[in-house]
Amino acid sequence: MSLDGTYDPANIFAKIVRGEMPSAKVYEDADTLAFMDVFPQAPGHVLVIHKSATARNLLEMEDAPLQAVMRTTQKVARAVRAALKPDAIAVMQFNGAASGQTVYHLHFHIIPRQEGVPLGRHASGGMADPKVLAEQARAIAAEIR
Ligand code: 5GP
Repeated sequence: MSLDGTYDPANIFAKIVRGEMPSAKVYEDADTLAFMDVFPQAPGHVLVIHKSATARNLLEMEDAPLQAVMRTTQKVARAVRAALKPDAIAVMQFNGAASGQTVYHLHFHIIPRQEGVPLGRHASGGMADPKVLAEQARAIAAEIR
């Protein structure tokens, strides 16, 4: 998939929004949703999406939903810091297959980083234990302000 294309309402994140696929939810408001990545690149890897915007990538996003999703990304990143006490936090976002994008519903990755620990493989590491993801989601959610 390139930078250009048509939004597919059957993409996995749209299914999560509609409740057709499970997710370990961290935060939800009227516009946005944050949930644990099932193939985490580090423990505590969270994804943030807009629930109704049909932008496949950052370049297609309108101003108002972009502001909403960025506000939630900051809110959740602060909660990740408080809950997990990482040395650093990477906020990442990919546009087009050649950049590493695999799901074509705009999303931001929040990835806690520890000094000296390499980043795990993107979208292709092992699947996390759902119980562990649920526990991490609970701990992060408890720090949302
Ligand atoms: P992208 O490669 O598009 O930047 O990121 C997509 C992310 O979605 C990857 O980090 C991948 O691990 C994650 N992912 C893929 N399928 C699922 C799923 O079914 N549930 C959740 N929670 N994350 C997923």
